[in-house]
Amino acid sequence: MRATVMYGAGDVRIENVPDPSVIERTDAIMRVVRACICGSDLWPYTSMAPSETGQSMGHEAIGVVEDIGADVRTVKPGDVVVMPFAFSDGTCEFCHKGLQTACVHVGFFGNNGINGAQAEALRIPLADGTLFRLPVGEEDALMPSLLTLSDVMGTGHHAALAAKVAPGKSVAVVGDGAVGLCGVIAAKRLGAEQIIIMGRHADRIALAKEFGATDIVSERGAEAVARVKGLTGGYGVHSVLECVGLDQSVETAIAIARPGGAVGRVGVPQHEAIPSARPSFYGNITIGGGPAPVRAYIDELLPDVLEGRIDPGRVFDRVIGLDEVPDGYRAMNDREAIKVMVNPS
Ligand SMILES: [Zn+2]
Repeated sequence: MRATVMYGAGDVRIENVPDPSVIERTDAIMRVVRACICGSDLWPYTSMAPSETGQSMGHEAIGVVEDIGADVRTVKPGDVVVMPFAFSDGTCEFCHKGLQTACVHVGFFGNNGINGAQAEALRIPLADGTLFRLPVGEEDALMPSLLTLSDVMGTGHHAALAAKVAPGKSVAVVGDGAVGLCGVIAAKRLGAEQIIIMGRHADRIALAKEFGATDIVSERGAEAVARVKGLTGGYGVHSVLECVGLDQSVETAIAIARPGGAVGRVGVPQHEAIPSARPSFYGNITIGGGPAPVRAYIDELLPDVLEGRIDPGRVFDRVIGLDEVPDGYRAMNDREAIKVMVNPS
């Protein structure tokens, strides 16, 4: 079968690789119906050291179960399923608490040698705990929005929860990529009154406004902080969704949170330390977040997608075949596309 392999920064190839097969009794094999390229895939795309073996890429997909191991109980061949970006056993203490990304058996697709979803098929470890069966056919019109449940919509929701978004609150979203845009949807869904999107790409800003953003801040650094304070009576916002992961974006996030406010971080940190220790300390600002347990959020978000109350699939503005995936990375990295969907068939 064909799969996407990254060999170093800017070096993405489509290759013929062995078909995946059931290895453990808890595995499933999933044929990929739709996958996509993530903003977090752009970090290795711009910085990965050259590798002889390469990394199979992709961690977001909807697919059809083709084969299952002897111990798999909750899915069967023919089921249409969404695959969260992390696999989890569904039985440990952390899975029971809804924190599947801290499962004692957790692994992340398309990372550390684990097979990725920008491919025709892949092996799903711990299928019972990981896969979520969808009540739709594989060519359903809602496929783009359902696909966001594998990562970006659940991640935006996680950022909003970590930032303690609630009815009547003021919110700022740092980052106008697909996760930030889904963060706008999540903030509105949770009842935020004011939603400030911080970004500078016209297409993304336009979509953020349609998703519910009330204010736009396109400045950066100190100017951005001053603008947000000006929009919030001088104090800053109650909740900040940090959807980038760079030092400057975290610094801005902390600087625009009002005293007693909260910052929900879902941008993968690109530095070791969290900046602004003193401002966050003196402001009594809660800093939370991490890899979103999107598996836990599907139950809550799926009805809103199925009944059309949210439409996060609009973040996809390009659909490509597997052979065009290298150019899809380039397009997202050049900010030519917001988020690229892959149809491998
Ligand atoms: Zn677990």
